[in-house]
Amino acid sequence: MDFFWGRSENNKRTCWVAWDNITKDKEDGGLGLCPLKIANIALLRKWWWKYRAQEHDLWRRFIDAIHMTPRTWPSVPYNKQITGTWGCIAQLENYIIATNTELGKVIKGKVGDGKKDKGCKVMDRCIRMGQILSFDWKWKGQPGSGDMLSEFMNLLSLLSNYHFDSREDQWAWNINGATEFSVSMVKKELMKEDNNSSGSGFEWNLWAPIKVNLFVWRLLLDRISTAYNLYKRGIIHQMVDCKLCGDSPETTDHMVTSCYIASVVWQRVGAWCKLPPIFLFSTKDVMEIHTQAGGTDQRKKTINVILMVSLWSIWKARNKAIFEDEQVEPGKITGEMKSLSILWVKYRSKICNLDWIRWLNFDL
Ligand SMILES: [Zn+2]
Repeated sequence: MDFFWGRSENNKRTCWVAWDNITKDKEDGGLGLCPLKIANIALLRKWWWKYRAQEHDLWRRFIDAIHMTPRTWPSVPYNKQITGTWGCIAQLENYIIATNTELGKVIKGKVGDGKKDKGCKVMDRCIRMGQILSFDWKWKGQPGSGDMLSEFMNLLSLLSNYHFDSREDQWAWNINGATEFSVSMVKKELMKEDNNSSGSGFEWNLWAPIKVNLFVWRLLLDRISTAYNLYKRGIIHQMVDCKLCGDSPETTDHMVTSCYIASVVWQRVGAWCKLPPIFLFSTKDVMEIHTQAGGTDQRKKTINVILMVSLWSIWKARNKAIFEDEQVEPGKITGEMKSLSILWVKYRSKICNLDWIRWLNFDL
C-alpha cells in the first residue's frame, strides 16, 4: 500500500484511492491488484487440482497412504489426526462451503477413451457400434428403490449423449470453458465473488501506457490532487482558483470540462478527429466521446487513446503552470498530445503505415 502511493517514513503521501477499490477487478473499475488472502486461496486451490490431475504421481500416493480412510470419498482426503500443511490445503473445503463459491464444483471428470479404472471402466460397460449404444451392466442386484432408479435414468441419459474419443480420460478444470488450471483465473473468479461491483466504469486501453491509464482511472474516481480535493481533505487550508483560467475553484470537473483551456482543447480534438460537436458536463462524459464517434473499432479505440492523452496533457500543463509558472496555451497542449499519442498508438496498435502526415489528417 505505502509502496503503491510512494510513501515512506519521511515522505507522508496521500492514499488517493481506498484499498478495497484498488483490489477490485479491472472490469469493475479497480486495478485488479490481488489481496494476499485470495492469492493464498488460489495457490492452495492449485494443490486440489494437482491432487486430481496427477493421480499416478508418488506424492499423491503418499498423501493417499497417510490421509485416505476407506469409508469416505472426499474431494481430497484428510485425516484430522495428522497435523501439517496438507490440513491447511484440505480445509479449504470449509472456506468453499462458508462462502458458497462455485469453485467447489469446478473439477469435472471428462471421459475420453473410457479406460480410466475406478474399479469399473466406462469402456467395459458401454459398447458403441456405430449409432447403437449397448450396455453390459454387471449388477449385484437390479436397481430397486426410487433413488436408485432416478440415478440410473440419469446415468443412461449422460451415456447416451456421449461420444467417446481417442483421448485419455482426464480431469478438467471447468471455469469459463478452460480445461487447464490457472492460478490467475482462480484469483479472478474469487475476486469477482469477493467484490460487489460499483466501479468507475473505466475502460482500460492498452494502446496508452499504464501511467496514463492509471491517471484517467483516478480522474474518473475524482481521486487526484486538484485544489478542491486537497482542500476537502484538509491538506491545504484555503480554496485555490484554477491556475489555467483563474475563473473558478479548481475541481476535477472544472479542469476537465468547463475550464476555458479545456474547452478549447476539446474543440480542437473534435475538429481534428472529425467528431460531432462535443458537449461535456462531467469527467465521465469525456470517456464516452469515442463511443459515439462512428467508424471502425480501431478508429474508436484510437480516439479513446487521444481523449486519454488529452486529459493527461491538460494535467501536465496544469502542473507546469502551478509548479514551474509556465504559460498555458491550448495549442501547446494539443501539440504535445498529438506527438505523444502517435508515438504510443504507432507502437502498440499495429495500425499499418501510420505516419505523421496521416496522423495529422487523422486519416484512419
Ligand atoms: Zn479553469
